[in-house]
Amino acid sequence: MTPAPTLSSLPAQPVPASPLIDSFGRQIRYLRLSVTDRCDLRCVYCMKAQPEFLPKADLLTLEELEQVAGAFIDRGITKIRITGGEPLVRRDVVTLIERLGRRLGQDGGLDELTLTTNATQLPRFADRLAAAGLRRINVSLDTLDPVRFSRLTRGGKLTDTLAGIEAAAAAGLKVKINAVALKGENEDVLPDLIAWAHGQGHDITLIEVMPVGDVGADRADQFLPLSAVRDRLLQRWTLTPLTETTGGPARYHRIAETGGKLGLITPLTGNFCAGCNRVRLTCTGQLHACLGQDGAVDLRRALREGGLEGLNRAINQAVADKPEAHDFDVRPGAEPSVTRHMAITGG
Ligand code: SAM
Ligand code: SF4
Repeated sequence: MTPAPTLSSLPAQPVPASPLIDSFGRQIRYLRLSVTDRCDLRCVYCMKAQPEFLPKADLLTLEELEQVAGAFIDRGITKIRITGGEPLVRRDVVTLIERLGRRLGQDGGLDELTLTTNATQLPRFADRLAAAGLRRINVSLDTLDPVRFSRLTRGGKLTDTLAGIEAAAAAGLKVKINAVALKGENEDVLPDLIAWAHGQGHDITLIEVMPVGDVGADRADQFLPLSAVRDRLLQRWTLTPLTETTGGPARYHRIAETGGKLGLITPLTGNFCAGCNRVRLTCTGQLHACLGQDGAVDLRRALREGGLEGLNRAINQAVADKPEAHDFDVRPGAEPSVTRHMAITGG
């Protein structure tokens, strides 16, 4: 008589490659893919002055990153943003971007492939990125004052970032500037930054600082509510709220006098979780379904031990467990709301 099959001898049920819908009915369509935690800058709100970077051996290989991204595209992800750390300091990352670029278009499944960068490496790579199919990129720039830039980035050169932005524009990439609003650091120069960006034809988005990771500073000293920034801008300009949304957390305004678009991202003063359609993969393969919570699922292990089946099971688990909302706290003396830094999760 043939013995009854035990659970372990049963063939694993194939995991259906179904769309990714969380328990609150939100369909996940957007993946942020961090390719490194390393960076050539040390922004004061992002990392410590002397960060301990992860051992390179812990990182997903470029092949694994491509495999995981491919599995997400097969599950209905239509937008991927490459981030970090500074993504362009990872060796051969442009080759990965070129390979993912082949999935752009109806047949490939991907509508948009994009990048967030500090722009320092763009003079080397902008042309290849444009050729890979990137259309738009986000560049972080918090001030146009070279002395403050150097202080905020702990040693960066403003001219490097400006040269990168120029190279991107020359390659045909649409640039959006991202600036973190920082109390006492750049609040007085944000109007000039906005006017400059719009003068160059770039949209700009302001972001409230988030209490992610210990950066050696009290977040209450850095936090500047965008409601205060907006009040200040209204003394100078006419802001008209736009109804358009990109499905992301920014609320957009048109500034009549500059003609440009201003986005405001207010994770602290305005909750943006209800429409959240994104998940984040760290460079070590931890999948975070929420930027503001510590929970994660280990996709590196799932992939290495269980192949594509294991990977899809782990993705299902992360999406099913996606929290409803984050829980940021920037009161004086508060502990970081999550322990990992932005450069690890991928901002
Ligand atoms: N190095 C690239 C860059 O700076 O654009 C990509 C990675 S960086 C972590 C992504 C974005 O996160 C940047 O726009 C940066 O300003 C933002 N960021 C970093 N730490 C932050 C924090 N604590 N709160 C809000 N935004 C933060
Ligand atoms: Fe580097 Fe970007 Fe973090 Fe600045 S914000 S330290 S550029 S990863």
